[in-house]
Amino acid sequence: MSFETFNFHPSVMAGVRALGYVTPTPIQLQCIPPVMKGRDLIGIAQTGTGKTAAFALPILQHLLQGPRGKVRVLVISPTRELAEQTCEAFNDLGQQTRLRSVAVYGGVSMSQQLRQLRNGAEIVVACPGRLLDHLWGGSIDPSHIEILVIDEADRMFDMGFQPAIRSILQCLLKPHQTLLFSATMPEDIRRLVKDIQHDPVTVQIGHSVPAVTVSHTLYPVEQNRKTALLIELLRNTETESVLVFTRTKHGAERLARNLGETGFNVTSLQGNMAQNKRQAALDGFRTGSYKIMVATDIAARGIDVLRISHVINYDMPDSIDAYTHRIGRTGRVDQTGDAFSFVTSNDGDLVRDLERVLNVKLERRTVKGFNNAAPAVKREFSRSPRSTRWQPARSSQRRKAVMVNHRISSPQMASNPS
Ligand code: AMP
Repeated sequence: MSFETFNFHPSVMAGVRALGYVTPTPIQLQCIPPVMKGRDLIGIAQTGTGKTAAFALPILQHLLQGPRGKVRVLVISPTRELAEQTCEAFNDLGQQTRLRSVAVYGGVSMSQQLRQLRNGAEIVVACPGRLLDHLWGGSIDPSHIEILVIDEADRMFDMGFQPAIRSILQCLLKPHQTLLFSATMPEDIRRLVKDIQHDPVTVQIGHSVPAVTVSHTLYPVEQNRKTALLIELLRNTETESVLVFTRTKHGAERLARNLGETGFNVTSLQGNMAQNKRQAALDGFRTGSYKIMVATDIAARGIDVLRISHVINYDMPDSIDAYTHRIGRTGRVDQTGDAFSFVTSNDGDLVRDLERVLNVKLERRTVKGFNNAAPAVKREFSRSPRSTRWQPARSSQRRKAVMVNHRISSPQMASNPS
């Protein structure tokens, strides 16, 4: 199956080619035809499955017909980073279409957004709060909206945006096509879908479980030894880009400072940072000038950096869902990745849930000098004489951790050159 089957306009196909996409991902195969027919759609999919192009491509195709310079598509995103990334995807895929998209989010001045909107755009990708400011202030006219996309709905609801979403929906009076994407479908999202969608097609890719092509390893450790363990692992593991998660903003800042002082090339991303600093951190991480990024959950939402080889949970997240999203930052599309999780004796419940959902006993790795009394199948690790990598005593088990292929029979995909 190739992109030719969708009969996209040559200007849309030019974007597909420019990004080096050869084969549609499963979610693209299932979403693009109904969206092109104008159907409402629920996409239940993890990040990293190619879901942005699954809605962006048929939207670009749709917008080629009809008026220019009016906001006809609204995409609601939970975070600024995801809004920027989605806007970039529209720009990259639509580079030959002359369609314009604007990202709209808080924490930056209104003036640039107002200027871009006045210059005319057909697509607005927005975070809920700032979008409401524009809708109420009259700088975005909702009367021409033909397609509404609610992206990462579960995350948006987790972040408390449900009332804002409802207010946005009240501004959209004209009938429109609604596409909703979510990794999970909790009850409040089902209710929303019932209220706003008409006979939607449901597309489900995999389950809401962690995974893709990621191997999961637990490192039992005492709380106050985590930084030392992290440094040990970073020094002795072959990695490309590494994303480290902490529970708190201050924790992220402190850890990044510590790693920096130890000589690592590191940046951080957390909600207290000004937007320009966040963007600079993200750009530096994406281009590889920073090899390590320490981030909190919300800040890291939607980060799309292809070369992340390792996600390290310095602090365990508070739910399986959050774990799924974190490790979705590695193993994107056709790549593999490793998820290392530092577990203390307080993390027993989450580890048990994780093993139940994955239906496997996760590998516990003990680095000499860093083990604690966590309930674990301990395997001693030693440094191989020939390599600087930490390897298990029986190296054939190295990658046996968990390889759960949730991407369904993933077709051959060209890697994204960006
Ligand atoms: P997403 O799930 O939309 O965040 O996409 C994850 C990554 O996959 C992004 O870097 C996309 O550019 C890339 N991607 C999306 N569709 C394809 C495709 N058909 N072939 C190769 N890469 C893709």
